[in-house]
Amino acid sequence: MEPSVSDRWALADPRLAIDLLSTLRHEHDAVVDDLADAHETTAWLRDRHPDTDDGAQTRALLVRLRDLVRQLLTTAVDGTPAPPDVVAQISLLAAGAPVTLAARTHPDGTVTVERASHGDPDVTLAADLARSALILLAEPARDRLRLCRAPGCILFFLQQDPRQQWCSPTCGNRARVARHYARRNTRPDAGTGRS
Ligand SMILES: [Zn+2]
Repeated sequence: MEPSVSDRWALADPRLAIDLLSTLRHEHDAVVDDLADAHETTAWLRDRHPDTDDGAQTRALLVRLRDLVRQLLTTAVDGTPAPPDVVAQISLLAAGAPVTLAARTHPDGTVTVERASHGDPDVTLAADLARSALILLAEPARDRLRLCRAPGCILFFLQQDPRQQWCSPTCGNRARVARHYARRNTRPDAGTGRS
């Protein structure tokens, strides 16, 4: 009998690294950091990675990885060379908990295949996040990776369609308003009442 393949077999999910970077963002002119302390980190982990929900233990690793991933993806969208030490550190973390496929037979004779990773939960999470960053450097994800160019926004996103320029509709609105005011203030006849 053919094994059924679940969609959980994938080596890496590119959205995980984007999600990690989104823990640090600007909201209403203030910096929000979901990994600001152990308590906040625990809350973030519970929502997303419940296998590893001890923020006190995991926070330093996540903050370090977030910094590395930001450096890596910034060079990717800028088209500049990635720092070799950053690449090496992310590769090392990605290899911390290798992924394999685990097959299981069921009483009815079916075989299911699932992605499996073994190791300490913190190391496994860091490896998943690191692999997610690396897969963003490869097609097809690389082609869709963008840095939001709205004023003050530092978020990366995966384009849903080729015209998408902003991480969210909110950023799109802010950018349009900023452009409108910039045009008004640089026009030679600004303030004269003519249009
Ligand atoms: Zn944005």
